[in-house]
Amino acid sequence: MRLILLGAPGAGKGTQAKNIVSKYDIAHISTGDILRDEVKNNTDLGIKANEYMKEGKLVPDELIIKMISNIIVKDSSKNGFLMDGFPRTLVQAEKFDEMLAGHGLSINKVVNISVDNVRLLKRLTSRRVCSSCNNTCSINGSEDSIMQCPSCGGELYRRKDDREEVIRHRLEVYQQQTRPLIEYYREKGLLIEVDGSGSEAEVTERILSTL
Ligand code: ADP
Ligand code: ZN
Repeated sequence: MRLILLGAPGAGKGTQAKNIVSKYDIAHISTGDILRDEVKNNTDLGIKANEYMKEGKLVPDELIIKMISNIIVKDSSKNGFLMDGFPRTLVQAEKFDEMLAGHGLSINKVVNISVDNVRLLKRLTSRRVCSSCNNTCSINGSEDSIMQCPSCGGELYRRKDDREEVIRHRLEVYQQQTRPLIEYYREKGLLIEVDGSGSEAEVTERILSTL
């Protein structure tokens, strides 16, 4: 199975992606996670990408497309994959279709998780990431604010691009560049729309029931 997960920053793509891939035993390909690793390791790609990421801008299409073309041929993607954070522009979507067709492959379904802007902003400002297991969690919603990762006890940090000004910019970029992909995939008859409000488990259930 080859899936794409669409949704604004903060829609819960990463969290839902983990639940979906574990159910279907397919690769979870998060371009955001891959890029953050490249940045951490100071690779050529990481150094270039960081210039854009820290300002909430998209990394140029050519860099992303090259990165994806290396990944989809890997053994770990043989059983299928779920794309989380890619494609993010029409150019990326078109190139991806060509790339897959070149391997005799195609996308089975595209799931769009929709969440209103007020919720998105709230989620992103209270979001923290675990430095050991990469899980994301919210520091809201509990009496005493969480200091450690609920799954592994690791140290939590706030992503550099989860500052309010940068978040606003990311939401604008989403509206302008990524939202049009919803129509693109609807026209291809691949789109499934899922309401992203409610608990993590509720949303997972909604997604799985449509796949
Ligand atoms: P979010 O969905 O929360 O904004 P991601 O972790 O998916 O965050 O991405 C973080 C940043 O990485 C983006 O703001 C962008 O700079 C870069 N990035 C990730 N995926 C792509 C992509 N497909 N195209 C261009 N830039 C990307
Ligand atoms: Zn952890």
